[in-house]
Amino acid sequence: MRLLILGGTSEASALVKALDARIDAILSLAGRTSAPKREPVRTRIGGFGGSEGLAAWITDHRIEAVIDATHPFAARISGNAALACQRAAVPLLAVRRPPWERCEGDRWTEVDTMAEAALTLGPAPRRVFLTIGRLEVGAFSVAPQHDYVVRAIEPIGDALSVPRLTEIAARGPFDEAAEAAFLAERRIEVLVSKNSGGGATYGKIAAARAAGLPVIILRPPAKPDVASVPDAAGALAWLSTRLDPCRSS
Ligand code: NAP
Repeated sequence: MRLLILGGTSEASALVKALDARIDAILSLAGRTSAPKREPVRTRIGGFGGSEGLAAWITDHRIEAVIDATHPFAARISGNAALACQRAAVPLLAVRRPPWERCEGDRWTEVDTMAEAALTLGPAPRRVFLTIGRLEVGAFSVAPQHDYVVRAIEPIGDALSVPRLTEIAARGPFDEAAEAAFLAERRIEVLVSKNSGGGATYGKIAAARAAGLPVIILRPPAKPDVASVPDAAGALAWLSTRLDPCRSS
């Protein structure tokens, strides 16, 4: 089976490592990080040119199934995948990681946009931990009164122009104990995070709860309503029913 996996997530990494030998997979990455982790399958990097470009790519490469294992906040590529698979008449499965649920002790303010998150910080100066990746930090330029600690895989360049900014380059996963130490050491007063779901970045949410810190949390965007599973194991099960239809119950 020739399979296209739209990746950039821990689920896509787990999936490519566990694929049946009968699957000829190509992993696709957007190219947002300059040194992506090496994976044990053929990898292509860069956009396809919208849903039409993706549909043409699927047809040209004789792809027989697509798995959309992109990040919960990557809404455009998921929309494109749904349209392209329809157009190319190829089955699509999405890996849809469930968002985190609010627990007792969580001090969350849920918002829909980074602009709303920046306003929610309020007028009084605070020490803010921005753990939202690097691409959208610019939204916080409207609130220069705060001290920002930004942690991202790649340098943010001049994306956030505020007088007090500490930049930390790091790639997860980060566990709760390390996050608790980080929050205390940096004297963080409030976190801004996407509700990305999954275990790899949950440590900061648990550590904020334990420390009684408020979290401004972005609700995930809507994604198209397609067949989905919550994790890589579900995707492997879906693939095995396609490879061995007579053995599925
Ligand atoms: P997006 O807004 O949904 O996509 C923007 C454009 O980037 C798409 O239209 C597509 O370009 C290209 N693209 C996205 N994912 C691609 C992939 N896997 N392979 C090839 N092209 C892709 O996505 P995003 O939020 O910028 O995220 C980009 C990538 O980073 C995703 O693959 C996602 O899994 C990963 N990621 C995102 C986040 C996040 O917070 N957004 C966090 C961790 C990882 P064309 O229209 O030209 O095809």
